Formats: sequence, C-alpha cells, structure tokens
Amino acid sequence: MDHFSYNSGVLHAEEVPLPAIAAAVGTPVYVYSRATLTRHARVFREALSGIARVEIAFAVKSNPNLAVLRVLANEGYGADVVSQGEMDRALAAGMAAEAIVFSGVGKTGSELSAALDAGIGQFNLESEEEGVELAEIATAKGLRAVCALRVNPDVDAGTHAKISTGKADNKFGVAYDRAAAIYGRLSSLPGLEMRGLAVHIGSQITTLEPSRAAFVKMGELMRAIRVAGHTVSHMDLGGGLGVPYRAGEVLPGPAEYGAMVADVVRDWDATICFEPGRVITGNSGVLITEVIRVKPGASAPFVVVDAAMNDLVRPAMYDAWHDFAAVAPSGERFTAHIVGPICESSDTFAMNRETDRVVAGDLAVFRTAGAYGATMANTYNSRPLVPETMVDGAKWAVVADRIQPATILAAERVPEWL
Ligand SMILES: *Cc1c(COP(=O)(O)O)cnc(C)c1O
Repeated sequence: MDHFSYNSGVLHAEEVPLPAIAAAVGTPVYVYSRATLTRHARVFREALSGIARVEIAFAVKSNPNLAVLRVLANEGYGADVVSQGEMDRALAAGMAAEAIVFSGVGKTGSELSAALDAGIGQFNLESEEEGVELAEIATAKGLRAVCALRVNPDVDAGTHAKISTGKADNKFGVAYDRAAAIYGRLSSLPGLEMRGLAVHIGSQITTLEPSRAAFVKMGELMRAIRVAGHTVSHMDLGGGLGVPYRAGEVLPGPAEYGAMVADVVRDWDATICFEPGRVITGNSGVLITEVIRVKPGASAPFVVVDAAMNDLVRPAMYDAWHDFAAVAPSGERFTAHIVGPICESSDTFAMNRETDRVVAGDLAVFRTAGAYGATMANTYNSRPLVPETMVDGAKWAVVADRIQPATILAAERVPEWL
C-alpha cells in the first residue's frame, strides 16, 4: 500500500498534487512519500514481532537520500552500509553508530579504519583475508571489531541474475563448507569479536522458499560453530524481500516473510538482524516525467519522455517493469513504446505497453521508483542529475537539488599541454 492516489482526476502524493511539484522543480523529478516510508517501516517491524530479539538495519544503497534516512532513523532503524560514503550519510541522518552494519565485498583498509573510529556496530566480513586485515587495524588502534561472517549458502534466489548474490559462483561471502573453519580461526584473532553469521541471497525475491532454505542452512551452520565452542549470538538474515511492480501483482509480504523467519529461528536463541531495502523504499517513490512528444513507430507509437535511463536505470539494467501512468489521465488508453531521449536503444522503459493515452506536454509517472532509482542515477549524455523531493501530508520539500551539467563541467579541466 502506498500514498500515491488520484484525487479529482489528478495523481497526488499524500495531499500534494504532483503537477504542483513538477511546476516548481521541473521534470524529471523523484517524489517520496513520508507516510509511505513510515508505514512500510512499521509494517516490516510489526511483521517480526514473533521473534524475540530483532535488529533492523535499512539497506542504505536502496535509497541513500538524507531525508529518507532521517525518516527511518526516527523509526528506530539502523543502517546497512556498503561504503564509507553510505556510513557517513547514515551518521549524518542521525543513525546511531552501534546500529550500523558495514557490508560489502571490497571494504578498503581505509574504510575499515574509518568505520572502527566511528564505532559502528558490526562488520560483515566477506572473507578470511578481510578479517585478518581488520584484526590488524583494530589491534593497532587498541580496539576490537565486532564481526559477523558472511556466508554464501549456495541457494538460488530465483531473481534476476544481476541481483542474485547467494549462488556458489557469486562473489559474496565465504563458501558454506569452509565457513565453520574460518569462523574458528577468526575467533582466535585478538582484534576481532566474532559474534555471528550473515547471509543475503539476493534482491527482489518473490517467493519465500529460497530464503527459507538459506536460513535453515545458516541455522545448521550456527549450531555446528557453537558445538565447536564459539559464540554465535547474532544471525543477520540480510534483505531481499521483493515488492510488487505491477498493479494487482500479489507477492508474499512482510507478514508472510516474518512468519516464515519466526518459524525457522524458533529455537536459535540469537538476536536476528534484518537488512531490508526495497521493501521499505520501493513503493514510497515515483518518478515524474513530462512527455516531450509522441512519434509514430513501426508497431506502436513511441512516447518520448524527458526521463531517461540515466535517471531510472532499472529497465535498461535489469529488464525491470515500472508501471507508467498519466498524472491526469484522459480516460483513453493506447498501446505504446515508452522511451527516453538518450542515444542508445537500451533507453527504453517499456515496449508495447497498454497505458494511459498521453500527448506532448502531459505529465506521467513511473511508479515504484523509490528503491534503486535516484541512487543509481548518473549524468550520461551530459544530462542533469535528477532531483528528489519528499511529501509529508500537505507539505513538500526538495530533498536533493538538480545538479546541472554546468556544475559538472566546472569540475573538469583541460590540461595546459592541450
Ligand atoms: C542490497 C543488499 C540488501 C538490501 O536488499 P533489498 O533487496 O533492497 O532488500 C541487504 N543486505 C545486503 C548485504 C545487500 O547487499
């Protein structure tokens, strides 16, 4: 459920008509609904109420906007970060250092050092080598790094190949069969406090079975490591729960997911950590775009919009579907290809889409654009970096400026010898 709905024939975010934002900021522009973010944060937490000890770290990479992070910090969420830049954002948004988990397969020595200095709550180690390096850095500082070991459970999440992370050939974590031995060796290092295991098998997961299979395997591993005499007090089950991208699509939601996890972890006697991203932010955002013009095509007309793959890359990168709808629909429908202005054919949002009939100058939205939207935007074709806004009831504000090509141009230099 989200708070984007039609009122008197015009799409609103909460109480704000989207044309008001488009008129003030221009297009394309992202709009986030605070009420939707808050609702998703609460629904997700509520869904885990059957589990005794829970920690939730929002996956910052899904939407790192400072205002979005502030909303989630206010809901008591911590952060799952994958770079020093994300860590700095989470801290700037007011998230407690102890509530930050540092994930990522390539944390550099300087990132590990900065995270230790900041006092973050948990490092999710992706290899024995990383653990050894972190132990050395921590020992030199007279600190102990609190760690979990990320394990690759060799489970197929059944999602797009580019966002699958839990198969043996994916780069993430240590091999399941070697994990207990590595955990034992890392536990003996003076600079580390090994306290748990971590797993994350992928994103936009639309069935519960792969996650259940991975969690059951992690439980077996946890028991084996405890039997070997080591402490495992925390089990980090990652994120990945999918969201519906098409109107009417029904997927297992937080309640079903929470019940499944509660069942699997019943007798684990551990704090269970979660790293949700998309399920919190996905339906909390839309991208408003203006139709530049409609031109004839061989099989259907092309609707050329002013948003492009640089603003919302998911269709080009993951073959993803985003519902497209007119902000003020006429009631007429047609079938069209929806494309951006960028000079390559991957800049296509939809082919042969049955949608609201739009004409030049109309506003439209791509829905469910709050996750992996603005955060993946770039300036390809020397386009501006897309701005972001947030609505709260009848109020709204720009929460990230449009960065103009002139600003980027000003950061470039022609060397004297040219
Ligand atoms: C991307 C990621 C997440 C969040 O995934 P969602 O599908 O957005 O929930 C959580 N944990 C890790 C380690 C990730 O890489």
